[in-house]
Amino acid sequence: MVQDKVALVTGASRGIGRSISLALATQGAKIVAVDIDLQATEAFVAELKALGREAVAVQGNVTVAADVEQMVNVAKETFDRVDILVNNAGITRDGLLLRMKDEDWDAVLDVNLKGAFLCTRAVAKLMTKQRSGRIINIASVVGQMGNAGQANYCASKAGLMGLTRSNARELAKRHITVNAVAPGFIATDMTDALPEQVRQELTAQIPLARLGSADDIANAVLFLASDYSGYITGQVIGVNGGMYM
Ligand code: NAP
Repeated sequence: MVQDKVALVTGASRGIGRSISLALATQGAKIVAVDIDLQATEAFVAELKALGREAVAVQGNVTVAADVEQMVNVAKETFDRVDILVNNAGITRDGLLLRMKDEDWDAVLDVNLKGAFLCTRAVAKLMTKQRSGRIINIASVVGQMGNAGQANYCASKAGLMGLTRSNARELAKRHITVNAVAPGFIATDMTDALPEQVRQELTAQIPLARLGSADDIANAVLFLASDYSGYITGQVIGVNGGMYM
Protein backbone atom coordinates (compact mmCIF):
# COMPACT_ATOMS: atom_id res chain seq x y z
CA MET A 1 0.00 0.00 0.00
CA VAL A 2 2.69 2.53 1.08
CA GLN A 3 5.59 0.08 1.49
CA ASP A 4 8.97 1.92 1.38
CA LYS A 5 7.34 5.28 0.60
CA VAL A 6 8.77 8.25 2.48
CA ALA A 7 6.15 10.24 4.40
CA LEU A 8 6.76 13.66 5.95
CA VAL A 9 4.14 14.35 8.62
CA THR A 10 3.89 17.70 10.43
CA GLY A 11 2.66 17.88 14.02
CA ALA A 12 3.61 14.21 14.24
CA SER A 13 4.38 13.70 17.89
CA ARG A 14 0.86 13.58 19.30
CA GLY A 15 -2.85 13.46 18.56
CA ILE A 16 -3.99 12.84 15.00
CA GLY A 17 -0.48 13.34 13.53
CA ARG A 18 0.84 10.57 15.73
CA SER A 19 -1.92 8.16 14.63
CA ILE A 20 -1.33 9.06 10.97
CA SER A 21 2.43 8.48 11.32
CA LEU A 22 1.89 5.18 13.13
CA ALA A 23 -0.60 3.96 10.51
CA LEU A 24 1.74 4.86 7.63
CA ALA A 25 4.73 3.28 9.41
CA THR A 26 2.77 0.12 10.18
CA GLN A 27 2.08 -0.22 6.45
CA GLY A 28 5.81 0.06 5.70
CA ALA A 29 6.34 3.78 5.08
CA LYS A 30 9.48 5.56 6.29
CA ILE A 31 8.53 8.51 8.47
CA VAL A 32 9.98 12.01 8.69
CA ALA A 33 8.30 13.17 11.90
CA VAL A 34 8.24 16.96 12.24
CA ASP A 35 7.17 18.82 15.36
CA ILE A 36 8.06 21.84 17.45
CA ASP A 37 8.79 19.70 20.51
CA LEU A 38 11.99 17.82 19.67
CA GLN A 39 12.00 15.68 22.82
CA ALA A 40 8.46 14.38 22.20
CA THR A 41 9.24 13.78 18.53
CA GLU A 42 12.45 11.89 19.29
CA ALA A 43 10.58 9.76 21.84
CA PHE A 44 7.93 8.95 19.21
CA VAL A 45 10.58 8.11 16.60
CA ALA A 46 12.26 5.81 19.14
CA GLU A 47 8.88 4.02 19.52
CA LEU A 48 8.62 3.61 15.75
CA LYS A 49 12.16 2.24 15.57
CA ALA A 50 11.41 -0.18 18.40
CA LEU A 51 8.60 -1.50 16.18
CA GLY A 52 11.21 -2.11 13.48
CA ARG A 53 10.21 0.92 11.37
CA GLU A 54 12.48 3.52 9.76
CA ALA A 55 11.94 7.08 11.00
CA VAL A 56 13.72 10.35 11.69
CA ALA A 57 12.75 13.20 14.01
CA VAL A 58 13.01 16.83 12.92
CA GLN A 59 12.38 19.84 15.11
CA GLY A 60 10.62 22.45 13.05
CA ASN A 61 8.02 25.16 13.05
CA VAL A 62 5.91 25.03 9.89
CA THR A 63 5.52 28.82 9.89
CA VAL A 64 9.27 29.37 9.50
CA ALA A 65 10.52 28.97 5.92
CA ALA A 66 14.07 28.08 7.04
CA ASP A 67 12.71 25.28 9.29
CA VAL A 68 10.64 23.97 6.40
CA GLU A 69 13.70 23.88 4.10
CA GLN A 70 15.56 22.04 6.88
CA MET A 71 12.79 19.38 7.15
CA VAL A 72 12.99 18.68 3.45
CA ASN A 73 16.79 18.58 3.57
CA VAL A 74 16.72 16.03 6.41
CA ALA A 75 14.22 13.92 4.43
CA LYS A 76 16.47 14.05 1.34
CA GLU A 77 19.66 13.28 3.29
CA THR A 78 18.05 10.43 5.24
CA PHE A 79 15.73 8.80 2.72
CA ASP A 80 16.59 10.52 -0.59
CA ARG A 81 13.02 11.56 -1.42
CA VAL A 82 9.54 12.47 -0.15
CA ASP A 83 6.56 10.56 -1.55
CA ILE A 84 3.85 11.65 0.89
CA LEU A 85 3.35 15.00 2.67
CA VAL A 86 0.74 15.25 5.42
CA ASN A 87 0.07 18.85 6.46
CA ASN A 88 -1.36 18.04 9.87
CA ALA A 89 0.13 20.67 12.25
CA GLY A 90 -2.69 22.89 13.47
CA ILE A 91 -3.70 25.10 16.36
CA THR A 92 -6.82 26.80 17.74
CA ARG A 93 -7.12 30.19 19.44
CA ASP A 94 -10.90 30.36 19.92
CA GLY A 95 -12.87 33.46 20.77
CA LEU A 96 -16.00 35.30 19.70
CA LEU A 97 -15.52 37.53 16.66
CA LEU A 98 -16.02 40.85 18.42
CA ARG A 99 -13.37 39.99 21.00
CA MET A 100 -10.92 38.16 18.79
CA LYS A 101 -7.43 39.57 19.06
CA ASP A 102 -5.38 40.27 15.91
CA GLU A 103 -2.61 38.01 17.21
CA ASP A 104 -5.04 35.10 17.62
CA TRP A 105 -6.23 35.54 14.04
CA ASP A 106 -2.64 35.76 12.76
CA ALA A 107 -1.34 32.79 14.79
CA VAL A 108 -4.05 30.42 13.54
CA LEU A 109 -3.83 31.52 9.90
CA ASP A 110 -0.03 31.30 10.08
CA VAL A 111 0.15 27.71 11.34
CA ASN A 112 -2.93 26.19 9.69
CA LEU A 113 -2.76 27.86 6.28
CA LYS A 114 0.63 29.49 5.68
CA GLY A 115 2.37 26.50 7.26
CA ALA A 116 0.68 24.16 4.79
CA PHE A 117 1.60 26.50 1.91
CA LEU A 118 5.27 26.64 2.95
CA CYS A 119 5.55 22.87 3.42
CA THR A 120 3.74 22.15 0.15
CA ARG A 121 5.92 24.59 -1.81
CA ALA A 122 9.11 23.05 -0.43
CA VAL A 123 8.06 19.42 -0.87
CA ALA A 124 6.41 19.98 -4.26
CA LYS A 125 9.79 21.05 -5.69
CA LEU A 126 11.08 17.60 -4.88
CA MET A 127 7.92 15.77 -5.96
CA THR A 128 7.94 17.66 -9.26
CA LYS A 129 11.41 16.27 -10.01
CA GLN A 130 10.25 12.80 -8.92
CA ARG A 131 7.11 13.19 -11.08
CA SER A 132 4.97 11.63 -8.38
CA GLY A 133 3.63 12.41 -4.94
CA ARG A 134 0.70 12.52 -2.56
CA ILE A 135 -0.14 15.65 -0.55
CA ILE A 136 -2.81 15.38 2.13
CA ASN A 137 -4.06 18.39 4.08
CA ILE A 138 -5.86 17.96 7.38
CA ALA A 139 -8.76 20.42 7.29
CA SER A 140 -11.87 20.33 9.50
CA VAL A 141 -15.64 19.96 9.26
CA VAL A 142 -15.96 23.46 10.72
CA GLY A 143 -14.17 24.82 7.65
CA GLN A 144 -17.23 23.52 5.76
CA MET A 145 -19.98 24.36 8.29
CA GLY A 146 -18.60 27.30 10.27
CA ASN A 147 -18.59 27.38 14.06
CA ALA A 148 -19.34 30.23 16.44
CA GLY A 149 -16.20 31.24 18.32
CA GLN A 150 -13.83 29.91 15.67
CA ALA A 151 -13.72 32.58 12.93
CA ASN A 152 -9.93 32.28 12.63
CA TYR A 153 -9.88 28.47 12.69
CA CYS A 154 -12.82 28.05 10.27
CA ALA A 155 -11.31 30.58 7.85
CA SER A 156 -7.93 28.81 7.98
CA LYS A 157 -9.48 25.41 7.28
CA ALA A 158 -11.74 26.74 4.49
CA GLY A 159 -8.61 28.37 3.03
CA LEU A 160 -6.78 25.06 3.27
CA MET A 161 -9.51 23.42 1.17
CA GLY A 162 -9.10 26.15 -1.47
CA LEU A 163 -5.34 25.64 -1.40
CA THR A 164 -5.96 21.90 -1.86
CA ARG A 165 -7.99 22.44 -5.04
CA SER A 166 -5.64 25.00 -6.52
CA ASN A 167 -2.54 22.89 -5.86
CA ALA A 168 -4.33 19.80 -7.20
CA ARG A 169 -4.92 21.55 -10.53
CA GLU A 170 -1.36 22.90 -10.68
CA LEU A 171 0.47 19.70 -9.76
CA ALA A 172 -1.67 17.11 -11.57
CA LYS A 173 0.49 17.13 -14.69
CA ARG A 174 3.42 15.99 -12.53
CA HIS A 175 1.36 13.05 -11.21
CA ILE A 176 1.08 14.64 -7.79
CA THR A 177 -2.34 14.37 -6.14
CA VAL A 178 -3.51 16.85 -3.52
CA ASN A 179 -6.48 16.07 -1.29
CA ALA A 180 -7.83 17.06 2.10
CA VAL A 181 -9.34 15.11 4.96
CA ALA A 182 -11.88 17.07 6.99
CA PRO A 183 -12.29 15.48 10.44
CA GLY A 184 -15.46 15.99 12.46
CA PHE A 185 -15.41 15.84 16.26
CA ILE A 186 -12.51 13.58 17.15
CA ALA A 187 -11.94 12.08 20.60
CA THR A 188 -8.72 13.69 21.84
CA ASP A 189 -7.34 14.88 25.18
CA MET A 190 -9.39 18.03 24.60
CA THR A 191 -12.75 16.29 24.08
CA ASP A 192 -12.00 13.80 26.90
CA ALA A 193 -11.96 16.75 29.28
CA LEU A 194 -15.46 17.96 28.28
CA PRO A 195 -18.34 17.52 30.73
CA GLU A 196 -20.53 14.47 30.00
CA GLN A 197 -23.52 16.66 29.04
CA VAL A 198 -21.47 18.57 26.42
CA ARG A 199 -20.17 15.28 25.00
CA GLN A 200 -23.77 14.02 24.75
CA GLU A 201 -24.85 17.22 22.96
CA LEU A 202 -21.97 16.87 20.49
CA THR A 203 -22.76 13.21 19.90
CA ALA A 204 -26.44 14.02 19.25
CA GLN A 205 -25.36 16.01 16.14
CA ILE A 206 -23.59 12.98 14.65
CA PRO A 207 -25.67 10.44 12.64
CA LEU A 208 -23.20 7.65 13.48
CA ALA A 209 -23.71 8.61 17.15
CA ARG A 210 -20.10 8.63 18.33
CA LEU A 211 -17.09 10.89 18.26
CA GLY A 212 -14.45 9.91 15.72
CA SER A 213 -11.07 8.50 16.68
CA ALA A 214 -7.63 9.58 15.50
CA ASP A 215 -7.44 6.17 13.81
CA ASP A 216 -10.55 7.00 11.74
CA ILE A 217 -8.61 9.97 10.34
CA ALA A 218 -5.43 7.94 9.88
CA ASN A 219 -7.33 5.34 7.83
CA ALA A 220 -8.58 7.98 5.39
CA VAL A 221 -5.06 9.44 5.10
CA LEU A 222 -3.65 5.96 4.48
CA PHE A 223 -6.07 5.49 1.58
CA LEU A 224 -5.23 8.89 0.05
CA ALA A 225 -1.50 8.18 0.48
CA SER A 226 -1.76 4.78 -1.19
CA ASP A 227 -1.80 3.59 -4.79
CA TYR A 228 -5.55 2.90 -4.38
CA SER A 229 -6.32 6.63 -4.67
CA GLY A 230 -4.41 7.37 -7.89
CA TYR A 231 -7.40 8.90 -9.73
CA ILE A 232 -8.55 11.12 -6.83
CA THR A 233 -7.31 14.70 -6.62
CA GLY A 234 -8.63 18.04 -5.40
CA GLN A 235 -11.15 16.35 -3.09
CA VAL A 236 -12.14 16.85 0.51
CA ILE A 237 -13.03 13.61 2.28
CA GLY A 238 -15.22 14.25 5.30
CA VAL A 239 -14.50 11.86 8.18
CA ASN A 240 -17.22 13.15 10.44
CA GLY A 241 -19.74 10.38 11.19
CA GLY A 242 -22.18 12.07 8.81
CA MET A 243 -22.50 15.35 10.73
CA TYR A 244 -21.89 17.27 7.47
CA MET A 245 -23.05 15.84 4.13
P1 NAP B 1 -2.87 18.41 18.68
O1 NAP B 1 -3.10 17.22 19.54
O2 NAP B 1 -2.85 19.77 19.29
O3 NAP B 1 -1.53 18.17 17.84
C1 NAP B 1 -1.07 19.15 16.94
C2 NAP B 1 0.41 18.93 16.76
O4 NAP B 1 0.88 19.96 15.86
C3 NAP B 1 1.18 19.08 18.07
O5 NAP B 1 2.15 18.08 18.16
C4 NAP B 1 1.81 20.46 17.93
O6 NAP B 1 3.05 20.57 18.58
C5 NAP B 1 2.03 20.53 16.43
N1 NAP B 1 2.21 21.91 16.01
C6 NAP B 1 1.48 23.00 16.37
N2 NAP B 1 1.97 24.09 15.79
C7 NAP B 1 3.02 23.69 15.03
C8 NAP B 1 3.94 24.37 14.19
N3 NAP B 1 3.87 25.70 14.02
N4 NAP B 1 4.91 23.66 13.57
C9 NAP B 1 5.01 22.32 13.75
N5 NAP B 1 4.17 21.62 14.53
C10 NAP B 1 3.19 22.30 15.18
O7 NAP B 1 -3.98 18.49 17.51
P2 NAP B 1 -4.88 17.33 16.88
O8 NAP B 1 -6.19 17.36 17.58
O9 NAP B 1 -4.14 16.07 16.76
O10 NAP B 1 -5.13 17.97 15.42
C11 NAP B 1 -4.31 17.64 14.30
C12 NAP B 1 -4.92 18.32 13.07
O11 NAP B 1 -6.27 17.88 12.91
C13 NAP B 1 -4.96 19.82 13.17
O12 NAP B 1 -4.70 20.41 11.91
C14 NAP B 1 -6.39 20.10 13.58
O13 NAP B 1 -6.81 21.38 13.20
C15 NAP B 1 -7.12 19.01 12.83
N6 NAP B 1 -8.44 18.67 13.40
C16 NAP B 1 -8.56 18.18 14.66
C17 NAP B 1 -9.81 17.85 15.16
C18 NAP B 1 -10.02 17.29 16.56
O14 NAP B 1 -11.16 17.07 16.96
N7 NAP B 1 -8.95 17.02 17.31
C19 NAP B 1 -10.96 18.07 14.37
C20 NAP B 1 -10.80 18.58 13.09
C21 NAP B 1 -9.53 18.87 12.61
P3 NAP B 1 3.16 21.15 20.09
O15 NAP B 1 2.04 20.63 20.86
O16 NAP B 1 4.48 20.63 20.52
O17 NAP B 1 3.11 22.63 19.95
